[in-house]
Amino acid sequence: MITAQQIKDVLETYGNARENLLVILRELENMSGMNYLDKSVLIQVAELMNLPPSAIAGFVEFYTMFRSKPRARHVIRICKSTPCHTMGAISVFDSVKQVLGIQEGEATPDGLFYLERCECLGVCSVAPAMMVNYDLHGLLTHEKIVSILSSYRNNPVADGWGSGEEIDAAQTILPRTGQTIRLLENIGKIDPERIEDYTNSGGYRGIRKALSVSPADVVSVVKDSGLRGRGGAGFPAGLKWSFVVKGDMQKYVICNADEGEPGTFKDRILMEGNPHLLLEGMMICGYATNATIGYIYVRGEYRRSIDRLQMAIEQARASGFLGRRIFGSGFDFDVFIKEGGGAYVCGEETSLINSMEGFRGYPRYKPPFPGQAGFNNNPSTVNNVETLMSVPMIMNRGALWFKEVGTVTCAGTKLFCLSGKLNRTGLVELPMGVTLREIIDVHGKGILEGKAFKFAQIGGSAGGIVGQDMMDTPLDIDTLMRQGATLGSGVILVCDETTCPVDFLLHTMSFFKHESCGQCTPCRIGCAQLEKTTMNLAKRIATVPDLTGLKTLATLMKQTSLCALGQSPIMPIETMLKYFRKDFENHCNPDYKCAACDASLSRFFTGTH
Ligand code: SF4
Repeated sequence: MITAQQIKDVLETYGNARENLLVILRELENMSGMNYLDKSVLIQVAELMNLPPSAIAGFVEFYTMFRSKPRARHVIRICKSTPCHTMGAISVFDSVKQVLGIQEGEATPDGLFYLERCECLGVCSVAPAMMVNYDLHGLLTHEKIVSILSSYRNNPVADGWGSGEEIDAAQTILPRTGQTIRLLENIGKIDPERIEDYTNSGGYRGIRKALSVSPADVVSVVKDSGLRGRGGAGFPAGLKWSFVVKGDMQKYVICNADEGEPGTFKDRILMEGNPHLLLEGMMICGYATNATIGYIYVRGEYRRSIDRLQMAIEQARASGFLGRRIFGSGFDFDVFIKEGGGAYVCGEETSLINSMEGFRGYPRYKPPFPGQAGFNNNPSTVNNVETLMSVPMIMNRGALWFKEVGTVTCAGTKLFCLSGKLNRTGLVELPMGVTLREIIDVHGKGILEGKAFKFAQIGGSAGGIVGQDMMDTPLDIDTLMRQGATLGSGVILVCDETTCPVDFLLHTMSFFKHESCGQCTPCRIGCAQLEKTTMNLAKRIATVPDLTGLKTLATLMKQTSLCALGQSPIMPIETMLKYFRKDFENHCNPDYKCAACDASLSRFFTGTH
């Protein structure tokens, strides 16, 4: 039982401003020993923070990492997103249930383990995966699961705080031959926990160079480079920076590190492998936009990223690289971390800002855009990790150098996250415009077990399905958009001939239903209806007109939903039907046999969802 004094101590450590609510609750949940927040604790927090208890209750309910009922000492979260599902997440559920003798939503009688499902953990190259408290485990087999669970059982001091060898940053990068290595250059070569390694390899030279010219000149260089946002939207970074309103008010740089798109793990590798590069990119952005404070909003599941970034921040402060009058200039800048609580929608920039302020992560109406009124209503520049980490090299080597690779409208390299049925999965850095054929044949070393390629999901759950006919299409933002797909965050999830398109789409629609924040009606009702119709297809009780219904509803959602989440389901539906309409029509026949759908229905969608 957490005492009143302990609660006071936690509030004193973090401060009782509402923006600290998430980290306060996370700390208290960890202290509970049973991974939950007791009602009495929440009431005391509400009193001490001068907030209505309903605000705290609503907050806890919104973020999936919190629970208000006791769980167990170790919470096992099994990923069910499409990359893990493709690689056998169902077997992982079966094994864990069998070994522990519990069902989903139950705890073992000794209070040691609690089992639940979750969406993407960001370790898709080692799917299927699970997280035990904050430890990530991948490449799971029955034998491995037995061994992992017994190691927690036999080690009473295991704290579950972010270990896991399979997720090592350097090991996730595929062999560099044939890649165009820029962003990944130092990962695996330098020790991310030593600032000296970073400075000795040329680190913090980009910010020094930026400080020798005017902020407007820095914006011009970034504009000239053609750098576009790498988080999914592809908006020109320099242009975004130029939109930040001028004036003396406090301004912020916000790094969006809420990497939750299923199939994406690139930002985790960047943050864990080279955290100082992100700090440097944020400093340059801060100087260019006249901001003095930076925040990195990191998804709560990324414990190791948070720890490495915190260490890097402290080292940079101790070295005088963060703080007042950086490098003898008149520029002040400091960086702080904000943690997420397990909500995909917080990857949307205004929802992320609400979350930073200690509210539910509901997207805001735009305008105003964050550049006008962002964090605490002050002008804020929001950029993704990969985008910001590209900036120091642009300052160092110039806009022309950056544009030497890539396409005319999409300059530079792109990180691609390879997962699914490939002989090799992991992270690669390749020029914008590379083809799927090169990614699969050269870097992925072909389809696993010599099977035939069926389709690739590009850009994650919000992205499109790409078939054999697009093997030689340049993968860049504009070309894919013209073809009805999207590059998104760089997900390449490859599926082979054994994958059932209906089953795959069911898991995609289930993801949207789970992650819809519920704020606007078209998305709240629409996502549930899309999942229901897809489930009817999987059950073989749908009709052919339902296929048109899926498209009609998703189109309506695209036109009327407030944020990108509700606008996204149309793309996977349309592209899937473009290639596999026949499979969908087959599922409208009650006598049609489909083992994949049967397995999902009996083990994933049994009423506990
Ligand atoms: Fe929330 Fe969906 Fe509306 Fe976005 S579109 S605000 S996720 S309900």
